[in-house]
Amino acid sequence: MPTAKFKRVMVKLSGEALMGDQEFGISPEVIGYVASEIRSIFDLNVEVALVIGGGNIFRGIKGSSYGMDRTSADHMGMLATVINSIALCDALEKQGMPTRVQSAIAMHEIAEPYILRRALRHLEKKRVVIFAAGTGNPYFTTDTAAVLRAQEIHAEILFKATKVDCLFDKDPECNSDAQPITSITHKQVLERELRAMDTTATSLAMDNKLPIGIINMLTPGNICKAVCGETIGTYIGD
Ligand code: UDP
Repeated sequence: MPTAKFKRVMVKLSGEALMGDQEFGISPEVIGYVASEIRSIFDLNVEVALVIGGGNIFRGIKGSSYGMDRTSADHMGMLATVINSIALCDALEKQGMPTRVQSAIAMHEIAEPYILRRALRHLEKKRVVIFAAGTGNPYFTTDTAAVLRAQEIHAEILFKATKVDCLFDKDPECNSDAQPITSITHKQVLERELRAMDTTATSLAMDNKLPIGIINMLTPGNICKAVCGETIGTYIGD
C-alpha cells in the first residue's frame, strides 16, 4: 500500500467534470468514477475535504450575459454547487465513505451549515466533508471557495482536479507549440496570466502560501499518486 505524503487535503472538482460526454448535468458513471478515485486517497487514511463547482448546471457569468442581475445569477450558480455536492455525497457514501455536506448558504433540511469547528471534527473522525455553495457570496468562484476553505481547515495542499494533464505556458487548444509546466510559483502564474485558477483564488493562495497541484482527474490513479507525493501535473508553490 502506498504511503500518503499529506494528512489533510482539499480537492477541488469542477462541475463540468461530472458531465462526462453529456452536454449538461451529472453522469452517473462519471460521479461513480470520481467517488472511486476519492476512495483511493480515503483508504490511505488521508483527511479529505472537497469543493465542487456548478458549471455543469449553471454559471453566474452566463446568466448575467443574458441580462440577468449578476447577484441573482450567482445565487443560482451557488445552488448548482449544492446539487452537485448532494450527488457527490451520495456517490461517496455508496462507496463506503461517511460524508457530510456543509453549505455556505443556510438550508438546514438538506445540508449542515458551514461551521468550521464542526467541519474539523468531521475530518478528524475520518468523514469526508464537502463544502457546498461556494463562499456564499456572489462574484466569487468555487476555486476561491476551495482556497478559502483549504486555509480555514489547514489543508496542506489543494488539488485542482481538471480534464487536462497540467498547466501549459499557453492555451494548448489554440497553440500547437504549448509547453507543459511542471512547477511554477503563484506569482509567476499571476504575472504570466496563466489560467490555472481565477486571479482571486491564485492570489489568496499566494498570500497564504497554500500550494496547489493541478492534476488530470480523468486519468485513473492520478489523485492517489499526487497525494503520495509523485510529481504529476503542475505544482504551484515556492
Ligand atoms: N459562485 C458564487 N460564489 C462563490 C462560488 C460560486 O457566486 O463563492 C457561483 C458563480 O455563479 C459560479 C457558479 O457558482 O459561476 C459555479 O461555480 P464555478 O463557476 O466556480 O464552477 P466550476 O467552473 O468549478 O464548475
